[in-house]
Amino acid sequence: MLVISGGLVLAADAARGALRDLVIDGDTIVDIVAPGAVTSADAEVLDARRRLVIPGLVNAHTHSHGGLSKGVGDLWSLEHLLNAAPWIGGERRHQDKHLAALINAVEHVEKGSTACYDLMFEFPAPTVEGIEAVASAYDKVGLRAVIAPMVADLTFYQSVPGLIDALPDDARARAGDMRMGGADNTVAALRLLAGRWPHPTDRLRLAIAPTIPQHCTREFMIGCRDVARQHGLAMQTHVSEPKYLSASAFRFTGMSMTETMDACGIVGPWFSAAHAVWITDKDMALLGDKGAQVSHNAGSNLRLGSGIAAVREYVRHGVTVGIGTDGSASSDNQNMFEAMRYAAFVSRIRGLPPDQWVSTTEAFRMATKGSARVLGMQDFIGRIAKGYKADLVLLDLDHVNYMPLNDATNQIVFTEDGTAVDKVLIGGRLVVSGGRAIGIDHAALARQAQEAMERLAALNADARRFAERIEPMVSKFCRGLADDDAMHALRRDIPAAGRCVHCGKAQ
Ligand SMILES: [Zn+2]
Repeated sequence: MLVISGGLVLAADAARGALRDLVIDGDTIVDIVAPGAVTSADAEVLDARRRLVIPGLVNAHTHSHGGLSKGVGDLWSLEHLLNAAPWIGGERRHQDKHLAALINAVEHVEKGSTACYDLMFEFPAPTVEGIEAVASAYDKVGLRAVIAPMVADLTFYQSVPGLIDALPDDARARAGDMRMGGADNTVAALRLLAGRWPHPTDRLRLAIAPTIPQHCTREFMIGCRDVARQHGLAMQTHVSEPKYLSASAFRFTGMSMTETMDACGIVGPWFSAAHAVWITDKDMALLGDKGAQVSHNAGSNLRLGSGIAAVREYVRHGVTVGIGTDGSASSDNQNMFEAMRYAAFVSRIRGLPPDQWVSTTEAFRMATKGSARVLGMQDFIGRIAKGYKADLVLLDLDHVNYMPLNDATNQIVFTEDGTAVDKVLIGGRLVVSGGRAIGIDHAALARQAQEAMERLAALNADARRFAERIEPMVSKFCRGLADDDAMHALRRDIPAAGRCVHCGKAQ
């Protein structure tokens, strides 16, 4: 038995916190009592005086392969990133997948996250060995995770109607010849993974992530759905991230991405939509009515210029909202304190009155209980409560972030940047002490990361040159996809004053 003693305990629902001792048996909180109430001589005591004890933050959307990709781009929208993906993530061996996931996991725990939903990518299709390379990284650090192979049967170039034909002659063949692993092979790989998943599902859980609806044929998405439903797996997809690609979905299919997913039988309580920036009221009602969730990735949405999600409207439609960072290729860190802050801040520049903004309590709840729901782990993580796993973060109240302590929740969301993280426990196991992940040689990890980056940069140099050559054409083409009618279908960019911010016309 372990007693975390004398801490100021802030449950996900609490605004202020109270001095409490947490009694932990194995991986579970079995009691919450007044300080000093446990007198058993057998109990191991972890001194939490001058510590603010919060539930571990839960990252509802990330990509472990991004662990080697911090800072790879600057003036990039999503299509730049997708165009660059072959050189950013190309030529990865299983050891690189392990290394990237390890770096991501270390960053997660050192910055106060205890679980994540990882849409990990392998080219051309997921493998047992690749997934295990990632799972072993999580085991090493102790991070709890949903591991969702991110799959597609169309390349980015194939997914955008007319793009390949619009490229110059010498680039057309190369872009047109690229292929993913094949729908049947990929679905078979997912079935194999689901059928022999070796990990306890409260620690590491499999899910399936058809990456973006346009990158998947209908048959392929239905194949993914069938494996997921047969094995009770969650699904997550990038939905309606940048405006022009969202509008082009209407233009080419007559349906929004959410409606496309629903037509494939994918939208349900097991489904979460990542980003969901440019979705309609009808989409929100659909997600809410079917018990689906959204991962709000405000930092990535800002970095890629994707837009600001309508979180207040989601909540009104009964959609559970979690918070994610996205991968480090598009958000450059795995800092859930920052992600909470972004979620609170961006809600304030949409023209809504202050009582409709995302409050600090709400942002904190989204990053704990809300994200736990996205992972499907809401019954045992995301709260400090009896019967819940002991996934806890101890913040140092002597850190400058809390000088003085005015309001714990406000300071967690507005002030905390991860630098006050002292200790982290996951399932009762101490995984961070003194702000550093236990059992990790940071200098050795940095060396391995640098070596891998340089080796992969050399191997991907030709792919990078190609991507950079066609980048201006790709960007221009994608931006030209959405005509005014399609843009107007996304009525959320019409402000209260009744003027469309896209074309300036009165509505
Ligand atoms: Zn993503």
